[in-house]
This record gives sequence, structure tokens and C-alpha cells, in this order.
Amino acid sequence: MTKESPINQSLLVVDNLHIAVEGKEILKGLNLTVKAGEVHVLMGPNGSGKSTLSFCLMGHPKYQVTAGRVLYKGEDLLSLAPNERAKRGVFLAFQYPTAIPGVTIANFLRAALRGVRGADVPVKEFRQVVKTQLKSLGIPDAFMNRYVNDGFSGGEKKRIEILQMAVLNPSLAVLDETDSGLDIDALKTVAEGINAQRAPERGILLITHYQRMLNYIKPDVVHVMVDGRIVRSGGPELALALEAKGYEGFRPTEPGHLPEAGGRGSAVAVGEGRGNSVRSSS
Ligand code: ADP
Ligand code: MG
Repeated sequence: MTKESPINQSLLVVDNLHIAVEGKEILKGLNLTVKAGEVHVLMGPNGSGKSTLSFCLMGHPKYQVTAGRVLYKGEDLLSLAPNERAKRGVFLAFQYPTAIPGVTIANFLRAALRGVRGADVPVKEFRQVVKTQLKSLGIPDAFMNRYVNDGFSGGEKKRIEILQMAVLNPSLAVLDETDSGLDIDALKTVAEGINAQRAPERGILLITHYQRMLNYIKPDVVHVMVDGRIVRSGGPELALALEAKGYEGFRPTEPGHLPEAGGRGSAVAVGEGRGNSVRSSS
């Protein structure tokens, strides 16, 4: 690490991360730094490795780290078991949430909260926390007695992911395509739920395909990911350039050379080197 390394102030530092799945390299040297209070958006074509990054951050055993490191609050995140990561405040909203027939949302949330706190949560307190969040996310109270994601619509699943985030109160929230499959009203509600979670001590990494999410959420940094690497980082205008031109203009044409985004403003080209080459433009 260099002298100006933001390692101490940063919530999350992903440094030259290489990940393989079943022998195939998916992430090929990813660098990303998220500071507390920031919202970062990660965009990229299907198969570029966005979900791979999110699973790796949460500790999915299938994703092998072959090089690089991840520091979370200055600590080696990759050496921690998934439940230890959750206890320290790391949260992942899944792109494809799993159904758990037989487990009600109420029991699931209470167990999850107990798990991250390491102590029981008084019923009264739990009810109070959940009630407030249900209301703001437009989720009927009756959902608490339904089985987790069992028979839920796409939009309902995504709201439940945000409900979990709101109840668990993480320091780092990774939201993997929480906006996909939502109609315009659900999108607005979910975006408002995410905005309500913005806080000076919290970092949010929002993975999305759609610029439309940015009509509601104003990120600090937008990253474009192609083929296992972040190829460009900049402000919200970068998402607009993507919308206009697609990802083609962002594909490296030859090793070590990145094409111009064609966008205005503060887009920052990201080098291939190690270290914290991704910075906020604000
Ligand atoms: P994105 O979320 O950007 O669409 P993913 O991270 O889901 O991309 O996938 C990146 C690549 O890794 C794809 O080629 C995908 O097929 C592969 N991949 C991801 N997870 C697995 C897995 N569990 N087994 C095999 N291949 C996988
Ligand atoms: Mg994905």
C-alpha cells in the first residue's frame, strides 16, 4: 500500500481481487474503495462478475480468492466466516432471493437480528423496529407470518431484502440488482427505502443494470465493470453515458488501453495497477 492509501478511513477496500469459480477466473484484478457515507453504483453487462463480487464479499464458499485482498474497517474480511462478516455489519441483498418454506419472515428476521447482535432481541423492540419499516416499505403486516419468499412476486422479494437491511442496520450494504423486476411504483418505494438507509457511518454498494434507479438515488461514484474489472469510474454522468452508448464503448480495445467514455465531466480513468485506483470524484 502507498503512503496516501485511504485504508484507514475506508470502510471497504477491495485490492486487486481475483476470483475463480470452478476453475474459471471471473474477477481479474478488481479494485474498489468505499468510504463510510458513500453510495457507489456498480454497473456492467451480464456475466461481468458483479454477483461474483457480492458473493465473495459475503463469503460464499464456491468463490475462490486466487489473489488480492479485501479490507473491511481495516480488517481482513476474507479470513472471516460469513456469520462473522454479518456480525461486523456486512449485508448482502441477493439478486435472486431464496425461498425458505416453513420459516416465517418474523422468525427469520428475529433470528437474523439475534445473530448479528449476538444477543436476544426483546419482542417489544423487535415489533417496533419491524412495524416502522413495514410501513415505510409498503409491506402489509400480514407478510410477517408468511414463509420467507415462498410464492412471492419479484417485487415482493426485493422489498423483503430491503426490509432485512433496514432491520439489521448494516455498516456496509451490498444490494445486488435490488431494482430489477420492479414496476415503477415498487422501484420508487425500494429506492426510497435505500435512500432512508443512507447514513454517515454506512456505505452502500448498489449493483444495477438500469440508469432509472439513479433517478431516485444520487450516487457518489459510478463504476463500470467489464469482464471482471472496473474499467471506469466517475460521477452519475457516467451512468448516462452508458445508457446512451451501451457497454461496447467501455470494452478495452487492447490490453492496457481503455477507450474514452465520450462523457463529460469528472469520469476518472482507472489504471490497471494495484492499489486504490478508484476514487470518488466528489
Ligand atoms: P453478473 O452478476 O455480472 O451478471 P456473475 O457474477 O453472475 O455476473 O457471473 C460472472 C460469470 O461467472 C458468468 O460467466 C457466470 O456463468 C460465472 N459464474 C458465476 N457463478 C458461477 C457458479 N456458481 N458456477 C459456475 N459459473 C459461475
Ligand atoms: Mg448478477
